[in-house]
Amino acid sequence: VELLQGPAGSSEAARAEFLTSSAQQLDRLNWLAQNLLELSKLDSGLVLLDLRPEDVRGTIESAVEQQRTAAERKGITLVATVPDRPLRIRHDPPRVGQIVSNLVGNALKFTPPGGEVRVLARAEPDGGARIEVVDTGVGMAPDELHLIFDRFYRGAEENEARSTGSGLGLAIVKSIVDMHHGSIAVESRRGVGSRFVVELPRDPRSVVDVEPPEPDAGTVALASATEKVDDSSPTAAPPMNAQEA
Ligand code: ADP
Repeated sequence: VELLQGPAGSSEAARAEFLTSSAQQLDRLNWLAQNLLELSKLDSGLVLLDLRPEDVRGTIESAVEQQRTAAERKGITLVATVPDRPLRIRHDPPRVGQIVSNLVGNALKFTPPGGEVRVLARAEPDGGARIEVVDTGVGMAPDELHLIFDRFYRGAEENEARSTGSGLGLAIVKSIVDMHHGSIAVESRRGVGSRFVVELPRDPRSVVDVEPPEPDAGTVALASATEKVDDSSPTAAPPMNAQEA
């Protein structure tokens, strides 16, 4: 803007170039501010989840569809596989959608053209849901896996994809998973790809305590139970994962 206020402002070409560039910077600032705001709201405990006993397949599929154009533009195959039967869990649909959208967004960002991103959902034996996001991207080194959920962490490697991030996406994912009393784990290999696994309980209100799973080599498993779950839905829990009526 300062340049435009000076002599460069009288050149049509310079004006077009600077305005395009400032529009991009403003978009980025806006995006960053939204993410910071979201994270501080989640952290403050002010956010109450709007838990609804809904079919999580719809939440997942619509979050994946929103990324379809980005995948096509980059030449990446994006596939979502969900069970045939309803997968009803008590969850906050827009926030679980954000989990999927952040994970798929990262998978697309860190996967070169020609690669694949798969989203798999399935019912757990205890009635919960498991959501996996698997990519054939650049992967991560074992010693950075425990850092990636920290806010502002943007990877050890300098590369084009990493230069566009803020390091807030996975911190937001982790907060939302925690609020649902779920868990998130990641496995990754450099040059091979990454797999993020989110497990959400059938009803977050019934989860009193969650033991963190034992991490194994190359895997970081994170789980935590917090007191942040609240609920605006009725207290009597209807049966979940009921067969289709
Ligand atoms: P951002 O993507 O905005 O940098 P995130 O919190 O979403 O922030 O991710 C943090 C870091 O974790 C990324 O910068 C990247 O180094 C690493 N990362 C996340 N997802 C993937 C992935 N699917 N493949 C490779 N690296 C990843």
